[in-house]
Amino acid sequence: MRSAPIEADSNRAIATLDGNAIAGTLLDVFGIEMTDAKCKCAGCDAQFHIAETEVYLRAPGTVVRCHRCRATVMVFVTVRDVTCVDLGGLAALERAAERR
Ligand SMILES: [Zn+2]
Repeated sequence: MRSAPIEADSNRAIATLDGNAIAGTLLDVFGIEMTDAKCKCAGCDAQFHIAETEVYLRAPGTVVRCHRCRATVMVFVTVRDVTCVDLGGLAALERAAERR
């Protein structure tokens, strides 16, 4: 698993990872590998793979943002072993084609 470098500039002092950081969470929720799934941001219509998103693990829950406009596209909150998922920031989510 590859992580994006941790940014410490004055604008974004919170550690930012890429979508690969939530591979395990996505597998738990969707039951399949999803980091290379295609999604579309509802805010700016950008299309990208989940691996390209910006992930904040230390927000209240896990917050996933569009790498282009920084809109929140997904939120995962786990309480008492139940993970609640908000995909409201996505206009589309399409799982990757199965590899053979
Ligand atoms: Zn966007």
